[in-house]
Amino acid sequence: PDNLPLAGFTILFLAAAHSLNDRFEREHEASRRDALTGLPNRRGFLESWEEALQRNRRSGRPVSVVLGDLDHFKRINDTHGHACGDTVLRAVAQAIRSCLRAQDVVSRWGGEEFMLLLPDTDLTGAGHVAETTRLAVRALRVEHPGSSFQVTISLGVCEHRPGRSMEETIAEADAALYRAKQEGRDRVVAR
Ligand code: GH3
Ligand code: MG
Ligand code: MG
Repeated sequence: PDNLPLAGFTILFLAAAHSLNDRFEREHEASRRDALTGLPNRRGFLESWEEALQRNRRSGRPVSVVLGDLDHFKRINDTHGHACGDTVLRAVAQAIRSCLRAQDVVSRWGGEEFMLLLPDTDLTGAGHVAETTRLAVRALRVEHPGSSFQVTISLGVCEHRPGRSMEETIAEADAALYRAKQEGRDRVVAR
């Protein structure tokens, strides 16, 4: 009976610690996710990639990334309004996700840019995934009061090579994306 206050205090203390930990985990999770699309954000993507590279170092299997950027997205905002642009971003996020396997990751890299992580996939395989993604985005019909329109996406593909930094691989995917834009958009460039 002497220990009763101590036991009560201990229970209260544990409950408080538990709830604090829950909150911590929720905030940690939220800081890695994009609120508009529900996809991982850049930080979440980089963490997944770090993990994939560690697995890849053990298994020796390839890893590729694909960087996609919507074509003339500014025009969509200007013509149909920012809210419509947001709807397009959510639909595109969903369309890209539907093209991927469970172990793949698609993140919202920036405004209208999406970065894909494809474990166990070489350059050729990643090129196929990028092409499937391009067609899925193109197949979307965006319904907007008074009009219905299509969106297209340009994609740059790069296989991550052992010994390279993540920054170098991202720069290569970005350079490939730039070429896809230069060559007329709505296409995939792999290098
Ligand atoms: P390009 O084909 O060369 O990529 O042309 P673009 O118009 O897509 O490229 P630019 O980078 O000039 O424009 C990107 C636009 O994306 C500008 C910005 O207003 C819009 N954007 C970025 N984030 C959001 C967002 O969260 N919601 C909406 N609606 N628009 C966004
Ligand atoms: Mg852009
Ligand atoms: Mg764009």
